[in-house]
Amino acid sequence: MRAVVKSSPEFGIDIKDVPMPRIENEDHVLLEVEACGICGTDLHFYEWAPQAKDFITLPRVIGHEVAGVVHEVGKNVQGFRVGDRVVTETWGGCGDCYYCRLGKFNHCVTQTRIGQQADGGMTDYLIVPAVSLYKIPPSIPMDQATLIEPLGVALRAMERITMKPGDHVFILGPGPIGLLAGLLSMQNGASTVSILGLKSDHLRLKKAKELGMKTFVLEEESAESMMNQINHGHGPEVVIETSGARAGFQLAIDIAKKGGSIGLIGLPPKSEVDVSKLVSKELDIYGSWRRLPSTWYRAIDLIANKKIDVTSLITHVFDVDDAEKGFELLHAKEAIKVIVKPKKKD
Ligand SMILES: [Zn+2]
Ligand SMILES: [Zn+2]
Repeated sequence: MRAVVKSSPEFGIDIKDVPMPRIENEDHVLLEVEACGICGTDLHFYEWAPQAKDFITLPRVIGHEVAGVVHEVGKNVQGFRVGDRVVTETWGGCGDCYYCRLGKFNHCVTQTRIGQQADGGMTDYLIVPAVSLYKIPPSIPMDQATLIEPLGVALRAMERITMKPGDHVFILGPGPIGLLAGLLSMQNGASTVSILGLKSDHLRLKKAKELGMKTFVLEEESAESMMNQINHGHGPEVVIETSGARAGFQLAIDIAKKGGSIGLIGLPPKSEVDVSKLVSKELDIYGSWRRLPSTWYRAIDLIANKKIDVTSLITHVFDVDDAEKGFELLHAKEAIKVIVKPKKKD
């Protein structure tokens, strides 16, 4: 089967034939892939960004934003049958460690992540633990279903922060996670949603504007000038950092209203911030890591009930053989969300 493979520690990806995987653990299922989104993490692997080597073992079939159909189930699997339409968590919670026993699978101590330490979904089939699967209703098309995973990332931050109807929300980073956080904030009763990007993010900022968000360009504004334009000059009650830029957290501290709340999703390099300001402004800081099982159910229901429309974020669809084009477009910031599909699904 054809697959998008990260073979070597350098710029680029390979499209090559790999053997079809087999079930070796009876708690696992063989999933037939219908669609797989390209995530920012996958782009880091393509670019071989400095942090990439810490997240992946090579060679590896990449892709973790997978939607598909159960093709075969291990003997121990209950609750899933051949033909079930599903999305999958990006690792298998071991079920036994302290955090798994608390239901906090996002903090499991032995995570083997698909597309990173286990083969991923930019191909025809992959193996996943049954515990990772969530069924999706027929009302969610497979392309949209690939957005449930990133929606879950944004939603987890929204579950953590304190936000009330009427709050003003400010989002750093107009990538898919930032845009999804914006849509969730609107759904959650925000008075205004603002989103900040770079000049080079013009396509994404244009999309944000179409979706009803106010947009700012970093090169054209200071923290003060943005604050003056939000919430009568007092700044946003809620700031969500999705960019992972070194300066993102400091900017969030600078722009937030006193007593406001900051949700951190992006993973920046180590950076210093003005802790005194954080203290004196009485800001609440919420780290946010992946998703909980409950987040999956909420994300699925939000899309199934058409409360969040993810379709407009999908700008390109390629089959596996042409997947490199999708990576090139994302690298050039000429795409928002790119979906990769096995060729037979044309
Ligand atoms: Zn992802
Ligand atoms: Zn565990």
